[in-house]
Amino acid sequence: MSAAAPGACMPPADRAAVTGMPPGIATARASLTPMLSQYADLCAAHEDALVLFQVGDFYEAFCEAAETVARVCEVTLTERSDSTGEYPMAGIPIDAAASYLESLLEADYRVALAEQVEDAAATSGLVDRAVTEVLTPGTAVDDELVESGTTTYVGAVARESVADTGGDVDDDRAAPTLGLAVVDVTTGECLVTDGDPGTVTEEVARLAPAELIVGPGLDPASSPNDARSDAPGSTDGSPHGGDPTDANSTVDDFDPRVGDPDRAVHRHDPDVFGRDAAVERLAPYDGALDRRLETDAALRAAGAVLAYAEYAQGDDGPLEYVSRVRRYEPDARLRLDAAAQRSLELFENRGIGASDTVFETLDETSCALGRRCLERWLRRPLVDADAIRSRHDAVDALVDRPLVRTAVADALSTAYDLERLVARVSRGRADARDLRSLHATLAVVPDLRAALAEPPDADGPGDAGDASTDADDSASSATAGPRTAHLQDLRERLDELADVRDLIAEAVVADPPQEVTDGGVIRDGFDADLDELRATARAGREWIADLEARERERTGIDSLSVGHTEVHGYYIEVTDANRDRVPDDYRRRQTLKNSERYVTPGLQEREESILGATARADAREYELFVDVRERVAAETERIQALAQALAELDALTSLATVAVEADYARPELRADAGAGIEIDGGRHPVVERTTAEFVPNDAALSRGAVAVITGPNMSGKSTYMRQVALTVVLAQVGSFVPAQAARLPVVRGVFTRVGASDDIAGGESTFMREMRELTEILHDAGPDSLVLLDEVGRGTATTDGRAIAQAAVEFIHDELGATTLFATHYHDLTALAETHERVTTLHFTATREDGDVTFLHRVVPGAASSSYGVEVAELAGVPRSVVERSRELVETSDVGDTSDIGDASDVGDTSDVGDASDVGDASDVDDSGGTPGGLSEAAATGVPVEVVATLRDLDLARTTPIAALNTLHELKRRVDDAE
Ligand code: ADP
Ligand code: MG
Repeated sequence: MSAAAPGACMPPADRAAVTGMPPGIATARASLTPMLSQYADLCAAHEDALVLFQVGDFYEAFCEAAETVARVCEVTLTERSDSTGEYPMAGIPIDAAASYLESLLEADYRVALAEQVEDAAATSGLVDRAVTEVLTPGTAVDDELVESGTTTYVGAVARESVADTGGDVDDDRAAPTLGLAVVDVTTGECLVTDGDPGTVTEEVARLAPAELIVGPGLDPASSPNDARSDAPGSTDGSPHGGDPTDANSTVDDFDPRVGDPDRAVHRHDPDVFGRDAAVERLAPYDGALDRRLETDAALRAAGAVLAYAEYAQGDDGPLEYVSRVRRYEPDARLRLDAAAQRSLELFENRGIGASDTVFETLDETSCALGRRCLERWLRRPLVDADAIRSRHDAVDALVDRPLVRTAVADALSTAYDLERLVARVSRGRADARDLRSLHATLAVVPDLRAALAEPPDADGPGDAGDASTDADDSASSATAGPRTAHLQDLRERLDELADVRDLIAEAVVADPPQEVTDGGVIRDGFDADLDELRATARAGREWIADLEARERERTGIDSLSVGHTEVHGYYIEVTDANRDRVPDDYRRRQTLKNSERYVTPGLQEREESILGATARADAREYELFVDVRERVAAETERIQALAQALAELDALTSLATVAVEADYARPELRADAGAGIEIDGGRHPVVERTTAEFVPNDAALSRGAVAVITGPNMSGKSTYMRQVALTVVLAQVGSFVPAQAARLPVVRGVFTRVGASDDIAGGESTFMREMRELTEILHDAGPDSLVLLDEVGRGTATTDGRAIAQAAVEFIHDELGATTLFATHYHDLTALAETHERVTTLHFTATREDGDVTFLHRVVPGAASSSYGVEVAELAGVPRSVVERSRELVETSDVGDTSDIGDASDVGDTSDVGDASDVGDASDVDDSGGTPGGLSEAAATGVPVEVVATLRDLDLARTTPIAALNTLHELKRRVDDAE
């Protein structure tokens, strides 16, 4: 295999100055000492990495690289001086390297560890060093560097239609197919897919690789925002038609940093992206891959990502822990774009309302395997109704079986991270302790199988699954109902791997040392040769143990003693007083102050035999250990399959535990094509945990409905919309949902544009971002999508904002047919209900007690009062006459505002505020005078134009009580002046 020469890798653009050869070393190259010259060679061979050079117990860097290490790792910059000059130097202790390395990786450096590869004591000259590993942000596999339970992908994105030479591509802006491949270097999971740039961007957002390499024709720095010169979707100037189904997508739509502005993105050796190179690279993994991968782009991406992972591992051939390269269709999953993941706070808390993420709320897993599995499920919910129901079945069965849940949790809480263990085993890095951890994990499998076995008389919920039940396999499948079929299937997949388990148990001692080369690893009785060597050594030691007594008797010297030193070995010691009684066969070895030490030929012979036998035993042990490890490695695929089954079982059990503890209900999936969303007593899974009295709300959205939601600030609009979306997402993850009951269709995409005011997007205008996300929705949502729009248009002037919001809603309604929840502060948009068939209105109400506004957090049909700002002003203590006058004014402007929509209902709706159920004091609100007569009267009074204009531009939802008061004051002054 023609592995890319590491030297051919291009440095990431922004790191060029500090990776590879430090300029200070390059300058002095001719005169360097042999050691620094060796450092220089290694630097030259790793242009794209920061080389850390082992000197004894430290990793050192020199010159400019030292400055980087000192700065990033916060270690002292020292100096090394030798005959050729002085060089800045910074070192990190190898013993405690992990946290320093983490700092370097976090700062997006790739780090090449140049270690001493021969024993310093065994060589007289320069110790040989070699780069044993290149750590990169996405490929770091040291346990301490990898947060347990999270997936760490490294990814590659490749472009089709790039000449195989790896040469430059022309400025082809038409939609190419991009390939995306990721490897989880800790577990060996390898996924490949392809699609247009938008789709691939979405997959990147979803898989969230820590590091991404991009091939020729793709810009590591590009983001759709700065690359696009005109409105997204314009095909102007595109010479090629691109994919007819997505003619609007261009290569600039690919955003390598989607979802993570800090992701390490860089180019890698363009050669590894070549088609032929990819085919050759993939052959050892899967010879049929080049036929299975439908597009060139996918093939190139797969080749490149494996090349990169191999390179990171030190370039010694194929990665054995990658046993399967899985191609998947992006469409097979619920489309949950980056914006949706973010605004629904699936994985990232944005401090909106609650301090947890959805993932944390769902995560009751017992081991890292399960945690990662659950994370994958939440990132990529299902769209296949049968697959979803099957998970619901399993959760349902587990909900009814508390004993099984406990047994599973107990067993799995002692499980080690099987995926990572097997990855270490197959790459020959596992030590004896790893094998024992593997053994301990395999040992829980029989318990799990027993826990999952259906007792022969299982006829209902609640009584099954006692961990002590030891039903045989045939009985279990006979009684497996639909609810337990999934669990039984999982049980079948729980391969006990008794052969591997027994092999480890027989071969490796229970508590082995860390080092596998110093003996003490292999059990007695496992290998006859080893036993014999050990017996020889033991016999020798016994012979020596008895020697003292024998020699005392032979010589008559009572003070004679036998001892051992590291340097001189065994000796017989005789004090000077007894020197004349020393026998002839004693040979002097060492003279001490008052005594003499001797050896005899017999002792020497024994000693040599002990030493020889011990050394041979150690070597034999290592040989045996490596052999055992290889035999275990040969079962990699079975172990990975077991890991997968354990992971699923843990994730399902976690979902069941949450369902019980948080009182979730099993959602009913509706198959009929026109099914809408019906939720009874729905809650927000995260907010309800931190809110003392969360008020459940129903939702009834027919397919294609657009619900316009109004209500004052903080009344619960955003929470409500998100809880509807989360209910849908959780259901498709396979989870139960936070509701009394839910009847749901299978949704294929969830799109959100939530909380413009919450977005503090770095360096990007919020309005631009808002519009970009809106664009995506308008392009991609369809009848089987759920769309959330929260305060769209808020980031710009009122007139524009409202116009955009209205146009967007009309478009979604008329053209897309997506089921939509639309919270808006543009109250008059509720009038769309009059003119658009599927537009409905909902609003949130508030009440007041003792002068305090209390939000009921209850959603009810109809539009909210638009005069809520005045209510607030009144509550703030604005004099009654001012309040009344302002009510008149507001309504005047209302009429002006809504007349173009030709809607009178808005005015009628103001009476809502007067509803006794909404506001405590009905008489107060009756005074608000929402009668048409009052309005025309107000209009007749000749209110100054600028007052109307001010009111029209007033964004009540954003106005604080004090500002409202000031505005009122100003308005009143003007009105008074005009009179
Ligand atoms: P809006 O979008 O209308 O401004 P939010 O949805 O952001 O309001 O809700 C504001 C706060 O009200 C939330 O942070 C939460 O604490 C509380 N809240 C929202 N909905 C409910 C509810 N159904 N029950 C109880 N408290 C709620
Ligand atoms: Mg809100």
